[in-house]
Amino acid sequence: MIAKTRCIPDGKKELKKLPTEHYTEAKYLYYPVTSARCPEGETCVRGGQFVKIGEVIGTRKGAFFEQPMHATVSGEVLGNEKHIDQSGKMVDCLIVENDFKYELHESIQDRTDAEIDALTKDDFVEIVKEAGLVGLGGSAFPSYIKLSTKDQIDVVLANGIECEPNLISDYGLMMTNPRAVIEGLIFAMKASGAKKGVIAIKKKYKEIHERLEFCLHEFSQYDIKIQSVGNFYPQGWELMTIKNALGIKIPQGELLSKYGVLNFNVSTLASIYAAVRHRLPVLERYISLSGNGIHNKNFRARIGTLMTELIASAGGYKDPETPKVLILGGPMMGVNVTSDDIVMTHTTTSLIVQNDETMIEEPCVHCASCVYSCPVEIQPVQIMNAYKVRDKDMLKNLEVTKCIECGLCSFVCPSKIHLTEHMRKAKSFANK
Ligand code: SF4
Ligand code: SF4
Repeated sequence: MIAKTRCIPDGKKELKKLPTEHYTEAKYLYYPVTSARCPEGETCVRGGQFVKIGEVIGTRKGAFFEQPMHATVSGEVLGNEKHIDQSGKMVDCLIVENDFKYELHESIQDRTDAEIDALTKDDFVEIVKEAGLVGLGGSAFPSYIKLSTKDQIDVVLANGIECEPNLISDYGLMMTNPRAVIEGLIFAMKASGAKKGVIAIKKKYKEIHERLEFCLHEFSQYDIKIQSVGNFYPQGWELMTIKNALGIKIPQGELLSKYGVLNFNVSTLASIYAAVRHRLPVLERYISLSGNGIHNKNFRARIGTLMTELIASAGGYKDPETPKVLILGGPMMGVNVTSDDIVMTHTTTSLIVQNDETMIEEPCVHCASCVYSCPVEIQPVQIMNAYKVRDKDMLKNLEVTKCIECGLCSFVCPSKIHLTEHMRKAKSFANK
């Protein structure tokens, strides 16, 4: 039977009922000197030096951009240590010992309305660059590069769909601080010259709709509307969001700006607001611990906090004698990690811990469910077969590079074949 589906259990109902703890107890904060997009980096502080919140402590260096690193607490620089970052790899981290005074660096000063009104496009781009802002939905793409486009932008899309199961970071932000999202959207509109803003959320999030709507009354001089979209997966994939929220169909691989669109995750927009209004970099994120192998809890915690601290604060693991599977991110697109020695970065929003239930792969039954469910209309089973015999030409013919690694093919497969893992490997093989 063909099990075509884009409806998946989202696991958010229970998580949304849990309170969110503002965790400020971290004694030591760890700042990765590199990231997936920046394989090199350097620090600009010495051991024993005192730093304050918002102070630049180093620079991550990528092929086409640099990202400043900022302290998220005040305290003393201690040295370096290795921990796991969002990519699942062990990386070198700078350590700052928290003095729990939470002193702000002298550069962190609010801008007045008049100062903001006087900002030019170049000023906005520079502010966002200096704050080290990247796509907080997971892409970690530098936000200033998006904003500095020379293309004419008609609309800025605020993506609040967060379609992956178990993730409620954007939900938490929109419920508690809708104003920051709206003001960030307005700043992005000013920076890009867009006349229009659209906030895309899921249809079923009526409570968010109400909060945003209420908040928008204050900003009636701007052309901003809320657009509800379907509850299916992967609705948050930017091309699908743009198609369903704006009615614009953009082919894969094309620049959104060529079609007059800029797309930002809502958390990224809130970070643009904080950078423009308060001269602040990203200091905190909402993060959830979920899954049947751990006591579930939501936190708001400083970037640089160790996950082991949050796990202990939540009450630790359930069934400690049972082996665990750890996923950093959502269950569909997240990264499997082998240890909980993880440091929170800009894009860390979730750790899922499942008691390990060994799933044995069975032979393909040629049901075609993976093919019918794939949102980019490629053929996962054929790609897997081509990869197994390392047929690069066939992989190219099958357009493996279109795969967005959404995980749906693995989810629908009745034989429990890890198709997405094959897609990742096949993509990397085809690109070599
Ligand atoms: S992981 Fe790739 S191949 Fe599988 S359904 Fe998603 S886009 Fe299609
Ligand atoms: S790989 Fe799985 S989903 Fe795809 S055709 Fe085979 S059994 Fe069906």
